Amino acid sequence: MTLIDAQGLTKRFGARIAVDAVDLAVRPGVCFGFLGPNGAGKTTMIRLLLGLARPDTGRVLIGGHDVAQRPSLALSSVGAIVEEPRFHPHLTGVENLRVHAPLVGDGAAARIPSLLERVGLHGRGDEKVKGYSMGMRQRLGVARALLGDPQLLVLDEPTNGLDAEGMAEFRTLIRSMVEEEGRTVFLSSHLLDEMQKLCDEVAIVEQGRIITQTTVRELLHGATGTRTLILDC
Ligand code: ATP
Repeated sequence: MTLIDAQGLTKRFGARIAVDAVDLAVRPGVCFGFLGPNGAGKTTMIRLLLGLARPDTGRVLIGGHDVAQRPSLALSSVGAIVEEPRFHPHLTGVENLRVHAPLVGDGAAARIPSLLERVGLHGRGDEKVKGYSMGMRQRLGVARALLGDPQLLVLDEPTNGLDAEGMAEFRTLIRSMVEEEGRTVFLSSHLLDEMQKLCDEVAIVEQGRIITQTTVRELLHGATGTRTLILDC
């Protein structure tokens, strides 16, 4: 079974091809990494997956539904952090989530206390976000993305700007969402080390093209040529 099925996706900006004939299949219940250097097309790919940009050719199916035909799909069934999550700095963590909850639907506001606990912000929800560390903001972003209780989380470079401690906390959170809650996580990064620690499977992208899609196990123990290629990222 495939949760995300991208078929022949291409996106151009003028003469530049940001995403080039990409086919991608992501199974449910895994952490899937989209690994590539700056400018490789990661953000563009994520915007296509979420229906935030239209492909020039190809299509994206999520759970068998064509995202372009049902743009509301991304909002209802996918939680996402596309850029560094933005919050109202003078509102508390709880208030920020409350502002967002009506956009997600019934029952979202009631989930706020358990979500704060889930992301390790229990007891910090009544503090203003302007006092949060980067790691706390990122985890509040995950809580916001989980308000609709989505099976799929899509995260664009979620550990950018985090220190070692923040990264470790974030990794633990993501892994538990996959292993304990059975969610699927699709995340992009330019850090090979992060992919190895976090992900079950990876696709490696260069200049908009997927050059390999493999399991992390194969990545670590596979052909030397592949390792050299990735380490160049
Ligand atoms: P980064 O890690 O630096 O964010 P990325 O892998 O996410 O890089 P994209 O942001 O998807 O890559 O960009 C892929 C290519 O498409 C780049 O060459 C970028 O300059 C170009 N690009 C992206 N968005 C636009 C846009 N709106 N208009 C023009 N060119 C764009």
